Amino acid sequence: MPLSNRCVTDRVMWLYNRNGMYLVKSGYHVATQVLRTTEWVECSSGLGRLEVWLKLWNLNVPNKIKVFAWRACQNILQTRVNLARRKIIEDDLCALCKCAPENGIHVLWECGVARGIWAGSLVKLQKFTQGQGGVLQLFTELLQRLSTEEFESTIKRKTRWDQYRTFNISRSDHYKLNFNAAIYTDLGSSGVGAIIRNGRGEVMAALSAKGPFVQDSEEAETLACRKALEFAIDVGISDLIIEGDNVSVMRAVASNFMDGSRLGNVLEDIHCLMSGLRWCSVSCVKRSANTVAHCLARFARNVSEELVWIEDSPQPAKEALYNDSLIFS
Ligand SMILES: [Zn+2]
Repeated sequence: MPLSNRCVTDRVMWLYNRNGMYLVKSGYHVATQVLRTTEWVECSSGLGRLEVWLKLWNLNVPNKIKVFAWRACQNILQTRVNLARRKIIEDDLCALCKCAPENGIHVLWECGVARGIWAGSLVKLQKFTQGQGGVLQLFTELLQRLSTEEFESTIKRKTRWDQYRTFNISRSDHYKLNFNAAIYTDLGSSGVGAIIRNGRGEVMAALSAKGPFVQDSEEAETLACRKALEFAIDVGISDLIIEGDNVSVMRAVASNFMDGSRLGNVLEDIHCLMSGLRWCSVSCVKRSANTVAHCLARFARNVSEELVWIEDSPQPAKEALYNDSLIFS
């Protein structure tokens, strides 16, 4: 069963039908076929981290701030260090102070510009020391020293991080994210393809990446959707039309209904990521309108981990891009 990327509370799920809803008929069927098996879902993080997640998700602040904080703790913000690691940019130096690599703890806490923002906040914070190993450690310390109300008002400041980002995308446009998945039975893995284009059909970013072993195409597509959405957020997109071609997956992504199926964890991650966007819409398209993402997912077979293109047409999907451009023009 694919697990959530967030630390969610455990809940009972009925895995023996598609929608995760228990029916007596289905229960009887299972009871006569198999002995009861109990599945323990082990949380991979230690108790300290679990406490931080629980406190974070229970805070009385807007969802998008929780998602931002969670992403900061997980070190998956679009910092220059992370962008350089993914070969999206070459220079990882902080563009504001040019003193240190721009990682999460630097841009949110240690950079002189960030300190300037914190200087106007709680006295307790101004006296707070530096030298934390990362944002998670900083959060843990803040949670220990501040009251819940103080902590809430602190993270609402969230710094003007969005404005500092150096990889800028025009905010006035809506972008279209197409994703697709492929299954490589012989390799015991899957593939993800994603492409982000602006309203004129120009490529903003594309991704071809290996995914884990999956049981079926629905699982592959759901995991691909989460990966593609994380990618879009990483490159700084906040207004997004999400397009996939699997009807049941896109229906589940678009639905507000809490999904109790084995893919429920991943779907909740997707909804959580979507709630952090400024605007988004979800639609299901025909396969013939999703060929670029399809090519990129197929190409992932040749990729060791992941390949990223920024403002450049991905070679493996050149022909499909050309065909799409005829529709755009
Ligand atoms: Zn700096």
